[in-house]
Amino acid sequence: MKIKFDSAPKPEHVSPSDWMDWTWQLRQSMKSLTDFQTYFTLSENETTAFATNQSQDTKQVFNVRATPYYASLAHKTLEQDPIRRILMPHSAELSDKFQAQLDPLGERKNTNNPVARVVHRYSDRALFLITDICSVYCRYCTRKHFTGSDQAFIKNSEYEQALEYFRNTKGLREIILSGGDPLTVSDQQLERVLSDLRKIEHIEIIRIGTRMPVVAPMRVTENLVKILRKHKPVFLMTHFNHPRELTAEAAQAVEMFVDHGIPVMNQMVLLNGVNNHPAIVQALSRRLLFLRAKPYYMFQCDPSIGTDHLRTSIDDSLEIQKELWGHLSGLAMPNLSLDIPDGGGKAYYVPKFETSVSDSERTFTGWDGVQSVYKNPSADQIIKPIDAELYLPEWEEVKASKKK
Ligand code: SF4
Repeated sequence: MKIKFDSAPKPEHVSPSDWMDWTWQLRQSMKSLTDFQTYFTLSENETTAFATNQSQDTKQVFNVRATPYYASLAHKTLEQDPIRRILMPHSAELSDKFQAQLDPLGERKNTNNPVARVVHRYSDRALFLITDICSVYCRYCTRKHFTGSDQAFIKNSEYEQALEYFRNTKGLREIILSGGDPLTVSDQQLERVLSDLRKIEHIEIIRIGTRMPVVAPMRVTENLVKILRKHKPVFLMTHFNHPRELTAEAAQAVEMFVDHGIPVMNQMVLLNGVNNHPAIVQALSRRLLFLRAKPYYMFQCDPSIGTDHLRTSIDDSLEIQKELWGHLSGLAMPNLSLDIPDGGGKAYYVPKFETSVSDSERTFTGWDGVQSVYKNPSADQIIKPIDAELYLPEWEEVKASKKK
């Protein structure tokens, strides 16, 4: 079957030039109950959530915002529509029956937060939160403690402090621009950040985590991709959760990155009633791969405040992974991963194939039932590569950059 990408349904009253202007999409973002009522017929659950959100005393629900483009992908009346579940607040967000953490990744712990706007959790890489603004506030967001608080682009003093930290932390090899959404900032601001990071000799890789190709793909302009290419190697981490998000406009955005030599990796989050079915994950993964974007992660949803109704059980996620295994090529298969709550780092899941373990061998049953044995070489046969010493100083520097 030939993979096809359909255009998002532009409302008739909007001109094509406005529709394809990302700044127009941001300016026209829907934020209030009235804004949303012009596009949607709201359910009682959704109306209640808006009412709660608008009262300062009881402001429990995460900020609300959606671009007209992204809203056009959602069903106008069906509360259960997958895209609608991502963008529309729901009264279920007020429940904290199971788990409700403001900072599930432990990013606010002092040890992980050396200076404002920097999260340094792993030795070789750090997050740089350059803005807290997103053009759509996803209901499952894991960083509700920071995102959408209207702090906007980083203050100059914090910016300089962050760069100073990166310069002085020699083991850092990778900076991940995150937020908020780093692609909501202007080309000039982004250019400044990238060129300042490129002046730091030990920073090798820059990653940009963004949902703009999903929620406002017209952000991906010729000028933007030229800026990213100029500061290579830059990796683009997109965040498509559902095949319906891959419109013709989004597909074009992904291909523009790849055509300009910018690798694209996708991180999806498994969400209850949105994409927790193997047929949906495989459809998304195949379409992404067709566009030369690597399906990278399939995350278990973090127990961020207000997400009980959007989370799947780990057993449900493992079942999805098991069904996909053997039917989806390794290139298309995302890694199932979970962030251990309270900032415990990542835990990976793979289907269990080992059936027995001994010192000398391990027995396996493969995905389609083939059984066999892998025999270990004996311990006295194991040698160290003769040139390992050459790489030791670099390795020690990386390890030392993040002391527990
Ligand atoms: S785009 Fe990312 S940071 Fe922004 S609301 Fe969505 S998940 Fe949170």
